[in-house]
Amino acid sequence: MERNQPAGAAAFQDAADPAIVREVGLRDGLQSIARTLPTAAKLQWLHAAHAAGLREIEVGSFVPPRLMPQLADTAELVRAALALPGLTVSVLVPNIKGAERAIESGAHAMLLPLSASHAHSLANLRKTPDDVVREIAGIRRLRDAAGSRCAIEVGLSTAFGCTIQGRVEPAEVLRLVRAALDAGAERVGLADTVGYADPRQVRELFERAFEVARPYGVNSANGEQRLACGHFHDTRGLGLANVFAAWEAGVRRFDTCTGGIGGCPHAPGASGNVATEDVAYLLASMGVPTGLDFDALIALRGAVAGWLEGEPLHGHIWRAGLPKTMKEAA
Ligand code: ZN
Repeated sequence: MERNQPAGAAAFQDAADPAIVREVGLRDGLQSIARTLPTAAKLQWLHAAHAAGLREIEVGSFVPPRLMPQLADTAELVRAALALPGLTVSVLVPNIKGAERAIESGAHAMLLPLSASHAHSLANLRKTPDDVVREIAGIRRLRDAAGSRCAIEVGLSTAFGCTIQGRVEPAEVLRLVRAALDAGAERVGLADTVGYADPRQVRELFERAFEVARPYGVNSANGEQRLACGHFHDTRGLGLANVFAAWEAGVRRFDTCTGGIGGCPHAPGASGNVATEDVAYLLASMGVPTGLDFDALIALRGAVAGWLEGEPLHGHIWRAGLPKTMKEAA
């Protein structure tokens, strides 16, 4: 199947190849907002997202609640999400303790962050990237020993540049992609959480990363490609262009937040993750199947705006709605 092939023109030519949009607003979005959204609202969000056709949702993070009280109800959200048919439930896990909780929760996948920037890794985690890689290997051993099938995905952040270090060498990113796969990660994604990436850089780095991942083959459990995800923020307005560049390179899963939330707490008002409804529109406009119900996504955005009243939401398509040409096609 085309989607399991690495980068290249073949992927670009096959617009009918489906793409997966993974809603991460309940984790990435809410962790950057100081207020705590009540669990009841999160559950409504979860159900509405599933009803809109989203089939992968990151529902929270197993960080210590004292560090992130906004996400203290993650286990409850995992429980509710596991009851939704056909939904792949993922959680963010910052360390081995979080991994234990993720395995215990029954989540389908855990996302382990690994910073490609040495300076960022030290500042945020007080660990070098290679310390984190060793921890990933430990989490893989723990997972296997527990007989769990919780997939291990490594999210390689600051892959396109870093607010502390500035430039991040592509060679270092590629070295860490290989190290993460060697440590037992089933899939790896590249993330630009600071809005430094440009489309050319995205295309080139993903193409090179696909080459690195190719010898690892596809995941024997589900046929999934190893280089699995693009995670882009729209901080400087290039979010959708970067999604397109990654799609051209062969990426078929994208992290998004309803209403484009997830901005940087240190840059008030800055836009956050690419908006779920905008990415749905981008892909649909190119004829890429996503299984998403556009009206339901816009309605969910409206609900999120109500729950988070006073917080800036972002994105574009909600203002004008679908163009007539697409309404007729729908
Ligand atoms: Zn993000």
